[in-house]
Amino acid sequence: MKVVNPATEQVIADLKEDNAASLKKKLSLLKLGQKKWNAVPLKKRVAILQKFSALLKENIEECSRVLTSEVGKPLQQSRNEINGAGNRIKWLTENAEKFLSEEVMSEDANMKEVIRYEPLGVVCNISAWNYPYLVGTNVFVPALLAGNSVLYKPSEFSTLTGLEIEKFLKKAGVPDDAFQIAIGAREVGATLLDLNFDGYFFTGSYATGKFIYEKVAPKMVPCGLELGGKDPLYVAADAKDIKHIAAGTADGAFYNNGQSCCSVERIYVHEKVYNKYVEEFVKEVKSYKSGDPTDDGVYIGALTREAQLRVVDAQVKDAVKKGAKVLTGGKKLSGKGHFYEPTVLVNVNHKMKVMRDESFGPVIGIQKVKSDEEALELMNDTEYGLTAAVYSSSQSRAAKILAQTNSGTGYWNCCDRVSAALPWSGRKHSGFGSTLSHVGLRAFTQPKGMHLRKS
Ligand code: NAD
Repeated sequence: MKVVNPATEQVIADLKEDNAASLKKKLSLLKLGQKKWNAVPLKKRVAILQKFSALLKENIEECSRVLTSEVGKPLQQSRNEINGAGNRIKWLTENAEKFLSEEVMSEDANMKEVIRYEPLGVVCNISAWNYPYLVGTNVFVPALLAGNSVLYKPSEFSTLTGLEIEKFLKKAGVPDDAFQIAIGAREVGATLLDLNFDGYFFTGSYATGKFIYEKVAPKMVPCGLELGGKDPLYVAADAKDIKHIAAGTADGAFYNNGQSCCSVERIYVHEKVYNKYVEEFVKEVKSYKSGDPTDDGVYIGALTREAQLRVVDAQVKDAVKKGAKVLTGGKKLSGKGHFYEPTVLVNVNHKMKVMRDESFGPVIGIQKVKSDEEALELMNDTEYGLTAAVYSSSQSRAAKILAQTNSGTGYWNCCDRVSAALPWSGRKHSGFGSTLSHVGLRAFTQPKGMHLRKS
């Protein structure tokens, strides 16, 4: 399998892919290893994963360079991602004992009732490339803490980072038979679905998630799906400091080249503040420096996958054909590398693909609305349900709107944000199940109700 640098289009590594026989062997190893790993006291497992986090921090420059070389994000954003993974590991490890230890639910002279959180067994994690340290951490860290062994398949677009993760987990003390990596693309992922794991946890697109869920369903094991989004953001009439809001929300749309599951994907602005917002937003986007992601100050790097250039371009062309206006950007950059100009569209509507299909790239549509009711209706006019954001000077106004959005996350005066303390979950085509928080720690366990009669 060839690894290509998306900024230079050069092949930077040639890796040997797994096959059915090697995957079967890895699963057998993990089955034996899981029992031993689960016998390691939780405190020790916590210490090992904290050591992993410390190793990532010590080696942040090496890890960032590897990540940037294969996904094309600016080096500083790679560093941010690794630091972000550190924060998540901190929360998960510090809370593991509290949420994974057995709980006494009731006790009297004769009877004690206890919940035990037992591991699932061998967990299969098929992962995405856009934030391999973050989306990986969401799964393999709590899974290992809970006493599972893990077969981790990084995306074919972030395999070198997957190998870095494996190296530092092993260095930290995770045994070889508790963590294994699967190298390969779609076919290798599909082969994993033919094997019998005790749980499947997937991060990726709706199309693949649906395929995986259908394949896993007859196995009757847990299946967690963190899928795509078409996340809406609304700027209400009473929003103050529009310049500041425009800069923050542009960052929410264009950070990581728009390749975040919770990127702002469509914006609705009340007519009272629309002109000012659009002016400030475009000014901000025009200030972004695009180019070599290893250069200091570059904010827009290369898109990771070449195919996405065509998706983004087709969305822009479709919108323009239907009456949208391009205020900045609108085309691929010439020369080597998968570069697309950060693009802002206005005069958009829900007949256009850019307002309906996940863009996962540096393009955003801004639509003018007349009322909160109209904004809410448009926000919910989607097959997805990951996040929704409202900017308003009134918390109660935002709360009223966010109570009615069908999304796993609500944001007031912020966007494109994930916290380890809160559940991360989608609705509708954005998937189901949660990672992070106590819900995500327990997602890799199966509760056993223990009825303990003393006499
Ligand atoms: P993808 O669905 O193309 O691939 C994801 C993984 O699935 C890869 O490892 C791939 O090799 C594997 N795969 C592909 N086809 C398969 C098959 N038939 N059987 C088994 N495995 C298969 O997604 P992607 O392009 O890597 O990721 C981008 C998508 O992920 C976007 O839609 C994004 O919104 C979503 N995402 C969601 C979250 C979240 O938390 N909700 C986080 C990150 C990314």
